Amino acid sequence: MHQDEQTADIVVVGGGMVGLSCAIALKDRGRDVVLCDPGEARARTSYGNAGVVSRGSILPMAGPGLWGKLPAYLRNADAGLRLRHLHLLRVMPWAAHFLASARTSAWRRAAAALAPLTSAAYPEHRRLSARAGVPHLLRECGWVKLYRTEDAFAGAALEREILSHHGVPFDILDGPAIQALEPALIRPFARAMLLPETGAVADPGGLVEACEQLFAGLGGRSLRTTVTRLEPDAEVWRVVHPGGTVRTRHVVLATGAAAHELARPLGYRFAFAAERGYHRHYALQPGSPALNRPIYDTGAASILSPMGEGRVRVLSGVEVADRHAAPDYRQIEAAAREAAGTVRLGQPLDNRPWLGSRPSTPDGLPVIGPAPRHDGLIFAFGHGHIGLSTGPITGQLVADLATGRMPAVPVEPFAPGRLLGWPRL
Ligand SMILES: Cc1cc2nc3c(=O)[nH]c(=O)nc-3n(C[C@H](O)[C@H](O)[C@H](O)COP(=O)(O)OP(=O)(O)OC[C@H]3O[C@@H](n4cnc5c(N)ncnc54)[C@H](O)[C@@H]3O)c2cc1C
Repeated sequence: MHQDEQTADIVVVGGGMVGLSCAIALKDRGRDVVLCDPGEARARTSYGNAGVVSRGSILPMAGPGLWGKLPAYLRNADAGLRLRHLHLLRVMPWAAHFLASARTSAWRRAAAALAPLTSAAYPEHRRLSARAGVPHLLRECGWVKLYRTEDAFAGAALEREILSHHGVPFDILDGPAIQALEPALIRPFARAMLLPETGAVADPGGLVEACEQLFAGLGGRSLRTTVTRLEPDAEVWRVVHPGGTVRTRHVVLATGAAAHELARPLGYRFAFAAERGYHRHYALQPGSPALNRPIYDTGAASILSPMGEGRVRVLSGVEVADRHAAPDYRQIEAAAREAAGTVRLGQPLDNRPWLGSRPSTPDGLPVIGPAPRHDGLIFAFGHGHIGLSTGPITGQLVADLATGRMPAVPVEPFAPGRLLGWPRL
């Protein structure tokens, strides 16, 4: 079989929101870029998310509230998190870091690191979606966190304090104001937090496709392939795939939840896991008012996100499992049952739910930075729950790092080295 040999300045491996944003930003800086991705739209986590682009998404899942919920999590009795216990043994370094991060001080530190990143998220998305010819996919509609009881609202006081500290604006609404904001709701909620400086992407998969076309329009080269190995070879890298090799000075590893698969043979064992999540689309019943923005029902740990043309995407909480394991639809079925009590949910529009994996770091911060032991390799993965939002700004940061510029946002907290080995307490 003929083996294809190519050369490039930079190869970006992985074409989700993060990799594509890197590839586009590097093209903008005049680099000759090859993007390697198998091109399966639904295989990307960037396809199936809730579409929320929020400045307020600065509080990782591992926070001080974790300890109170841990017994329920371990019994799989909380909709927010489902564990496959045997798998937990395989991701012990991740689990150890995760528990070590569940402290108020670590939560505050994470918020301080993420705030500049999420502040840039909406402006970068607006710029990118306009350049990609799909500005209509991004709406500045805010998003809402709903609390079923006053107690649940009171339990989120620290979150509000930290958001205020970082200047993230929000409004607190009571029952009648919630109903006026979202007439589609049929469940009474005690309180809501409306985060106005937030956008929502009506079709995340459509945005990714538009970005692929933008990259091609800029003269970027795409290889529809799965990279099997990254081989350092003197001053260059050989990016090996089933059809051949690309020789390059720089590689950006942006393969989302699969990132450890190419990093491990190079000696990088990250504390890393897949936080799987499900979605399913529904119509609203005839006569129901539309949902105006994504809503997060904290009582059900589930998001409902309007996806255009009257479709509502119902999304589940987190499932910690091998990303290749067979799906377990119990979480999304429970989320859909709860959603049917929240809005007038009609028929499902898909044959079966979608499943994808959030690339999860235990401290909730992405990995963005040069590989500690190899020249020319830049890591850009681990964006967890906020990779759609922060993909475009990550692209700018990677382009800064690759071209020797001062990164637009401090990247020290995202340094890869922090997740190699066991946590320091
Ligand atoms: C249910 C759910 C809801 C979410 N909601 C939100 C939200 O509202 N807002 C938000 O900001 N984020 C959200 N997220 C998180 C967000 O979707 C992810 O953080 C983000 O999509 C990660 O992007 P990525 O480019 O790193 O990974 P991906 O989109 O998964 O892209 C990785 C790409 O790399 C490719 N790849 C893998 N291995 C190889 C290889 N060896 N060679 C070549 N290519 C390879 C894959 O095929 C894929 O195309 C949600 C996630 C889930 C699951």
